[in-house]
Amino acid sequence: MAETVTFLVDPLPVDASTEFLEASFREIEPGSGALAVNDFAPHRGDGVFETLAVVDGHVQEVEPHLARLANSARLTELPEPNLEQWRLVIRRAAERVPAEGEFALKIALSRGVDPGNTPTGWVHVTPGADFAASRERGIRVVTLDRGVARGAGERSPWLLLGAKTLSYASNMAAIREAKRRGADDAVFVSADGYVLEGPTSSVLARIGDVIVTPPPAAGILHGTTQRSVFAYLEGQGRAVEYRDLTVDDLRGADAAWLMSSVRMAAPIAELDGTSMPVDHEATAELNAYLLSPRD
Ligand code: PLP
Repeated sequence: MAETVTFLVDPLPVDASTEFLEASFREIEPGSGALAVNDFAPHRGDGVFETLAVVDGHVQEVEPHLARLANSARLTELPEPNLEQWRLVIRRAAERVPAEGEFALKIALSRGVDPGNTPTGWVHVTPGADFAASRERGIRVVTLDRGVARGAGERSPWLLLGAKTLSYASNMAAIREAKRRGADDAVFVSADGYVLEGPTSSVLARIGDVIVTPPPAAGILHGTTQRSVFAYLEGQGRAVEYRDLTVDDLRGADAAWLMSSVRMAAPIAELDGTSMPVDHEATAELNAYLLSPRD
């Protein structure tokens, strides 16, 4: 068992024979320099990735993450990933970490070494950060202008707003800006004043009895956690809705959360310096669901 596990993967074409799967990846030391400096990932952030939660040995929602990886690859014109290969790689990596506790399992696919005809892949599993306090007490969030109007994803597909690309430098800059402003995290707002998403999370709010989230067409990444929560709530007969939300709508919500695969549901306790109501009961229910084994 190891707390950190890294595999270097030779991404196979979709029609590769299954006999090649086991030999298509190997464990490496994460600092071994196995990733070439002339790969398009370190060069340009030109690749796509997914981060999956491993909870007590169970990898959460493998298929939704693989479907989104395939969609991100399509949007960035990378070769279609061989999902059979990635399923095996994910299973093997998860088997190497302790069967108790939370881990973050990242899979990535880059355009490969310049000139980029052969993709590179890797898997990196690390212990999950301790999210107990943010899940229970909540987080302070500031709104930050993303500088593009709602719907920019459809008008300007080259912005790749619906793909989970390796180009996260501006997302990280937004989190640093939030910290500079004394908060824990940020919510991006469109230039025309609509709530979009966090730099690494989806935004959900409870307005009356309805749980709402901005539509993916607003120009955001469609969150697997948000989809899973919507499916869970719908299964309970509760109302969910994709809805455009202004910052005032979010400020006036009965409760709101940032949600993502490893963090799960973190209630927003403060928005731009003003307290927000935290629904502790709903938060505990959502996190109990999100931490339970999900496929
Ligand atoms: N939006 C962005 C920009 C993200 O980076 C993430 C996750 O990292 C999410 C939303 C939430 O996605 P998921 O719930 O699949 O983790």
